[in-house]
Amino acid sequence: MRVAVIGGGIGGLSAALHFLQAGIDVQVYEQSPRIGEIGAGIQISPNASRLLIRLGLKPALDRAGVRPQAVHQRRWDDGRTLQRAPVGAEVETTFGAPYYHFHRGDLAELLGAAVPAERLHVGHRLVGLERKGERTVARFENGEANEVDLVAGADGIHSRVRHLLFGPEKPRFTGCVAWRGLVPAERVRHLGIEVASHNWMGPDGHVVHYWVGAGKFMNVVCVTEHGEWTEEGWTTPGKVEDALARFEGWHPTVRALIGSFPETFVWALHDRLPLSRWSDGPVTLLGDACHPMLPFMAQGAAQSIEDGATLAALLKLVPDDIPVALQRYEALRKPRATRLQEASAANRVRFHLSDGPEQQQRDAAMASSGDRSIANIGWLYMHDASAVEM
Ligand SMILES: Cc1cc2nc3c(=O)[nH]c(=O)nc-3n(C[C@H](O)[C@H](O)[C@H](O)COP(=O)(O)OP(=O)(O)OC[C@H]3O[C@@H](n4cnc5c(N)ncnc54)[C@H](O)[C@@H]3O)c2cc1C
Repeated sequence: MRVAVIGGGIGGLSAALHFLQAGIDVQVYEQSPRIGEIGAGIQISPNASRLLIRLGLKPALDRAGVRPQAVHQRRWDDGRTLQRAPVGAEVETTFGAPYYHFHRGDLAELLGAAVPAERLHVGHRLVGLERKGERTVARFENGEANEVDLVAGADGIHSRVRHLLFGPEKPRFTGCVAWRGLVPAERVRHLGIEVASHNWMGPDGHVVHYWVGAGKFMNVVCVTEHGEWTEEGWTTPGKVEDALARFEGWHPTVRALIGSFPETFVWALHDRLPLSRWSDGPVTLLGDACHPMLPFMAQGAAQSIEDGATLAALLKLVPDDIPVALQRYEALRKPRATRLQEASAANRVRFHLSDGPEQQQRDAAMASSGDRSIANIGWLYMHDASAVEM
């Protein structure tokens, strides 16, 4: 079986590694001139890290990653921790795989390095798909083409493959904007911040920060409700003073972190309506191409990694019947991805409550049971996406 993966992001690269492990002949096509992601952090929970570890990546993950001890949910003004959920040794023992924090570039690079160079084609922008009986020809802007048995579109929220399958439809601006900053450790070491993920929740916004780059940087993302927005992407420069003004009155640690940004980029958060199906004939989608979500469960990339693991496992089970494998793929993956899209949207409301009765209810619930406790997070972290049956 010959497969073309379109997109060399975290989803596409990890899918390619799963295909290779399943003995499938795969080629990856990435539009950019090189593999890599623009700077910012990414959290990888055990449901995804166990899959990457099975691909033989543990030494590389350990070198690049930071192992946080906890996730703190904190109040915006006095900094009180409302819930401290463990994600260190206890999570690794319970779920059989660690929780990691990475610089995105590091994660993309280690995945890219694991794909044999002759299978990775940078500078290849997909422009068209043409059906030829049971096969499909993928055509690229540079004039090249490849005829394959299956095309997997891992080309992100602006997916060309999705467009070609299901027609034009623009991503929606969610109303949330994020300022991101990557702070060299020496600028903020004096703040004595625990090796954990910290989520400060306040009126109309929240701030998440954690160590990345093997502890060399603090990754900070400040999300606000914003109304209108026209620009998109990761690389729109912003002003540190605008971010500081927006977080006026927040805890001194939050303000000190923002104040230490060497530079900041503003980034409008988009999503899309759920699709009724992900595949058409021998062409399917994975990752943000089919289920983009707000990042408030920290699961978008993790779900793209799960998608590739499930797809490869199913194709190994029924190599002679791609349509049946794709049907099963959607049946297994769509409910879980949809649940996480919904949970991410719900967290937007929970994280951005103004002080008042609803906020007090939220804080009491967080203090008593905690949605991130070992017992409550099992459905998410225990899942093994490659353990499939037809
Ligand atoms: C603020 C923020 C924080 C986040 N934090 C987390 C987190 O902590 N944990 C987590 O799991 N997720 C997180 N996410 C979500 C995560 O970033 C995405 O879900 C994930 O990167 C999606 O991966 P992907 O491979 O599907 O798509 P992408 O990363 O978008 O990759 C798509 C690739 O396809 C290429 N491409 C596009 N079009 C073409 C074409 N026509 N031809 C060839 N190549 C093409 C692109 O260049 C790109 O390399 C976060 C997202 C945001 C915005």
